Amino acid sequence: MTTNSEVRVSVLGLGAMGSALAGALVKAGHATTVWNRSPGKGKDLVAQGAEAAATAGDAVRAGSLVIACLLDHASVHEVLDPLSDELAGHTLINVTTTSPAQSRELADWAARAGIAYLDGGIMAVPHMIGAPGSSILYSGSADVFRQHKPLLDVWGTSTYFGEDAGLASLYDLALLSGMYVMFAGFMHGAAMVAPAGVTAGEFAAMAAPWLTAMTGAFEGFAEVIDGGDYTVEGQQSLEFSDLGHILAAGAEQGIDNEAVAMVQRLIRRQTDAGHGAEGFARIYESIRRPG
Ligand code: NDP
Repeated sequence: MTTNSEVRVSVLGLGAMGSALAGALVKAGHATTVWNRSPGKGKDLVAQGAEAAATAGDAVRAGSLVIACLLDHASVHEVLDPLSDELAGHTLINVTTTSPAQSRELADWAARAGIAYLDGGIMAVPHMIGAPGSSILYSGSADVFRQHKPLLDVWGTSTYFGEDAGLASLYDLALLSGMYVMFAGFMHGAAMVAPAGVTAGEFAAMAAPWLTAMTGAFEGFAEVIDGGDYTVEGQQSLEFSDLGHILAAGAEQGIDNEAVAMVQRLIRRQTDAGHGAEGFARIYESIRRPG
């Protein structure tokens, strides 16, 4: 068992995610103290072997490693600000979702208080924690990441991005951006075929393998973007990628074309600027530089 049981861990926040994280630690044999603002949420964890703390202060005093999984940045400060003296010399791993700027602010706050700080971005839903496919991104103290990696690996694949505490959040939000735009594309397609009597389920059965296959294009796009030359031979040109026919079909189906119109606008900004013969990856320039 890859445990680190000489370190007592305290988990602050027993919502859906905090409970999953604490449960995985208990299951892996880590001595775990749990605390939640509203009482009663730790009962199952206590039955599995966790200890319940009556206050956040008690939890912080119980564990040299403190995991915060609260609602947002404000709630982390609300809980931890009054405990900064007691946290001095401890390690704080904050997996609460925060913006990159908020993560950096928390890292600065921790540094001033003498707390070793690692920020985490969870790329999983609670039932995935400890199961294949769960991934958690980290940035902040390299020492904390190195020292506690066996414990962090209990939750899923642990990836470290560097000392800048905002990086994990930045990657997290960038990956989610890609996911939401892809989801919108799926919904657009499902709405487009619906008037023809196609169910969303039937469309999903076609879309999942298609979109999975299309992710194979990322590497080629990345090579062009990183190389900075959108004229490289063998690319699908922006002119060829005009989405007018897709928009026309969407209009015929009577749906809102916004999701595809957004991509068409990114293409048009480049063709209007005279780059129509260059590769599709050039829409990266429309995004990188606001119009
Ligand atoms: P929940 O809404 O289930 O739980 C929120 C937790 O925060 C509860 O323990 C709640 O306590 C506590 N809380 C809220 N406000 C305060 C406060 N002011 N003071 C003290 N405690 C407070 O959320 P999740 O557990 O699902 O999410 C926790 C974090 O994990 C979030 O930042 C979320 O973005 C992130 N996350 C969640 C994912 C998910 O799929 N659930 C996926 C990836 C990240 P109380 O019970 O008293 O209300």
